[in-house]
Amino acid sequence: MKLAKRIGRIQPSATLAMTAKAAELRSQGKDVLNMSVGEPDFNTPANIINAAIQAMHNGHTRYTPGGGTRELKEAIQTKLSRDNDLNYNLNEIIVSSGGKHSLYNACQALFEANDEVIIFTPYWVSFPDFVSITGATPVFVNTDPLNQYQPIFNDLESKITSNTKGIIINSPSNPTGGVWSDEAIKRTIDIARSKSLWVFSDECYEQLTYDQPFQSIFSLCSDYDKILTFQSCSKTYAMTGWRIGYTCGNSDVIQAMSKLQGQSTSCPNSIAQFAACEALLGDQSSVATMKEAFQKRRDIIVSRLNAIDGVTCDVPRGAFYVFPNFKEVINRNLNGNNIKSALDLCIMLLERKSVVSVSGENFGAEDNIRFSYATSEAIINEAIDRLQALISEI
Ligand code: PLP
Repeated sequence: MKLAKRIGRIQPSATLAMTAKAAELRSQGKDVLNMSVGEPDFNTPANIINAAIQAMHNGHTRYTPGGGTRELKEAIQTKLSRDNDLNYNLNEIIVSSGGKHSLYNACQALFEANDEVIIFTPYWVSFPDFVSITGATPVFVNTDPLNQYQPIFNDLESKITSNTKGIIINSPSNPTGGVWSDEAIKRTIDIARSKSLWVFSDECYEQLTYDQPFQSIFSLCSDYDKILTFQSCSKTYAMTGWRIGYTCGNSDVIQAMSKLQGQSTSCPNSIAQFAACEALLGDQSSVATMKEAFQKRRDIIVSRLNAIDGVTCDVPRGAFYVFPNFKEVINRNLNGNNIKSALDLCIMLLERKSVVSVSGENFGAEDNIRFSYATSEAIINEAIDRLQALISEI
């Protein structure tokens, strides 16, 4: 069958593929430990669930305006000013079916053939595809693994051409957990400003920084008006399945995204929008409780990984991922022909030990593997025991 060329420009999501693989192995009766999940293991807090039930009883079960209800946009305004020191008008805010949908729509609204868009490696798997499907070209810039994966600035400057139109920043990052310093952010924005580039700041992990308070990029550089801020209810409120994310920034771009949304999904889910109002405005204590649990798990997994001979793992300052480096283990095994890359190790870990992880090559880093610690301490410890056993066997 001859499908449209644009489909050939994108790949299936590697992380969703691993989640499917875990489910398949589990259905075969295997004792699977899933360390690949990109979502909190907590249930959505009860006050949010109750708000959704109430919304249904109140008849909020119909189409809403394409870009989201006025109530939710006002709740977002309040949240942004309360948590991020950001002040946006209602016409500068759009609600989408998840942050992913927002990012996709913004790329569609701004990028096209012959444009180049800067993406920092290691990157979230979807960024290159969001760019490629528009016909634009993703251009990859290296980062420093020993410094929270902040940009290598010489590389950034050398990759900008007259075709560069945008730059995507994701701090805290998926897959590395890296959190950039204010200085690194300001320097990046200065470079973007000098070339008049659009800056996407994907802040979906904004509530998950462990060693320093989160600072939204636009609050640091509010004199640059080509910054779009993307946030989401997914990770903060354990609401991944509800599909509510939002974007704030230039009203023309927001309007364009809204037009696109109106002709594709019509509107985000009405019930989830009412639940999101409660998430953003109601009791915030569950956010702190979940963050405390994640921080404890981060400390456990990082120290356990570093105790394995040949594995190095810097302390990520945010999100719920670690991204250890296995180069030494790979080099050690090259002669034995067992493992040539982190992908081989990742597959072996799955086949021999039933531990699901995501190989770094999906994120543009072939010596690393991403483990999510959005799972219980018992599972984390058992998974690392199995990894350690595998490495000593090979
Ligand atoms: N951005 C990053 C970096 C992510 O890791 C994810 C989800 O994994 C998203 C955006 C999208 O999340 P959602 O669409 O659930 O808001």
